[in-house]
Amino acid sequence: MPDCIFCKIASGDIKADIVYKSEKVVAFRDVNPQSPVHIVVIPVEHIEKPGDAKNSAVFAEIFDAINAIISTDASGTFRDGYRVVVNSGRAGGQTVWHLHFHLLAGRQMLWPPG
Ligand code: 5GP
Ligand code: ZN
Repeated sequence: MPDCIFCKIASGDIKADIVYKSEKVVAFRDVNPQSPVHIVVIPVEHIEKPGDAKNSAVFAEIFDAINAIISTDASGTFRDGYRVVVNSGRAGGQTVWHLHFHLLAGRQMLWPPG
């Protein structure tokens, strides 16, 4: 998608602090972090929202990537817990229309979320 910022990050046209990359998934540090560690995990394929995925394979690939990020992290930040969030649609708080999972860690998370 030509005007999609996350497609441009996945293709390398826009720079980001990339922490994980495979054929299907890219993860990078959020430019406006909401916790000491805030990583955005995206499929390379442009999918707007979870319901637009043609099947569940993309979600397995995303969680394989999340597990790889956590299991190779040397800082120990994830050891005490972390949160994975998907904001879907306007009322869900989505601002970038390319499916992404927020991986947050490094502070006590609150519930209910805002
Ligand atoms: P959403 O609000 O759609 O769930 O999340 C979008 C996230 O993408 C936000 O947390 C925002 O800070 C992040 N973001 C938006 N544009 C960029 C960018 O150009 N680079 C990076 N690294 N993160 C971005
Ligand atoms: Zn996109």
